[in-house]
Amino acid sequence: MRPAAVATMLPFLTERFANPSGAHRFARDARRAVDEARDQVAAVIGCRPGEVVFTGCGTESDNAAITGALATGGRRAVCPAAEHHAVLHVVEHHGGTVVAVDAAARVQLDALAGALGDDVGVVSVMAVNNEVGSVNDLAAVSAVVRAGAPNAVLHTDAVQAACWLDLRDLWPHVDLLSLSGHKFGGPKGVGVLAIRDGVSIDPLIIGGGQERERRSGTHNVAGIAALATALVATDEERVAETMRLAVLRDRLVGGLLAELDDVRETVPADAKVAGSAHVLIGGVESESLLYVLDEAGVCASAASACASGAMDPSHVLAAMGVERSWATGSLRLTLGATTTEGDVSIALDAIVDGVRTLRRRATTHAVLSDRPDRAAVEGQKPVSAP
Ligand code: PLP
Repeated sequence: MRPAAVATMLPFLTERFANPSGAHRFARDARRAVDEARDQVAAVIGCRPGEVVFTGCGTESDNAAITGALATGGRRAVCPAAEHHAVLHVVEHHGGTVVAVDAAARVQLDALAGALGDDVGVVSVMAVNNEVGSVNDLAAVSAVVRAGAPNAVLHTDAVQAACWLDLRDLWPHVDLLSLSGHKFGGPKGVGVLAIRDGVSIDPLIIGGGQERERRSGTHNVAGIAALATALVATDEERVAETMRLAVLRDRLVGGLLAELDDVRETVPADAKVAGSAHVLIGGVESESLLYVLDEAGVCASAASACASGAMDPSHVLAAMGVERSWATGSLRLTLGATTTEGDVSIALDAIVDGVRTLRRRATTHAVLSDRPDRAAVEGQKPVSAP
């Protein structure tokens, strides 16, 4: 978390602990904090404060947008195949339509147009892909959706966008927009769903009627205040950080391509955000590489971090048409506010070393297992396999 976000949070965990829905002065103090946070978030999205609904996480925001929009009209949901599971699985759960993406994981506009119709109640297209970093053109998506699905609302999962894109440029094109605090230096367990005035969606969580009946549940005041602090700081630093990190990302990916054979950049730099470095490495298994990198102090991932560490082939790479042999060697590195030039040098050395070691081991293993007289080579008597 950003230190400023932690500092904002702490008083609401101690002396300013009241429930903002109460009627006394401490409650009014907490309510003011939530109102201030709402104003700050609205200013960064470019929406009205009344359009900001605080939720429990990005997944909740995505679920509320899609399920809530369908509940009002009982219609069909549509999304591209490379969405985060918080969207994709919800659309599939409702029997919706999943459309093709291009080789950079961006929605194919003609496929989208072909899936639309009067029966579509919600279309959900992410702003930035969480695995490979590519950016959808939401202005173009919006034009296609407005023309082909006149009864639909358009939702964007902008959970990965806040650090890299001006949300004020996205909001005019959509009706619903999701954010998550922990993607820009705020706390985990707090999110935002912006709901355009005049757009009616059924609430996912019903109870005490907080957030003007749109999301019940006692406010997470500390989390909401800290999310707002982090979002404002992210917005202020966004342009400079994007430039700084693009240079570091290019050094990292350029270094890997120069030092190692058989490495591909998954999505070209001009199609993705500055913090995303995703490569496909031939001749290694991601799982082994992540283990070796972890030992070297480099924290990386192969696909999305959400699935209990399971090493299933990524649905995003599959949707992009990446062959399985390449997808099994995928490496996803993310650069952010705390990433330094020194970090990049350490990561570069560790990855190059790790890949060379694993490839050497694989070659030795292949040579040994190719020998018919392997047991003799190893000086052992042959044993039958169990
Ligand atoms: N959408 C995207 C694009 C994400 O990257 C994530 C988290 O990684 C989510 C949704 C889910 O957000 P949360 O972890 O706050 O539930």
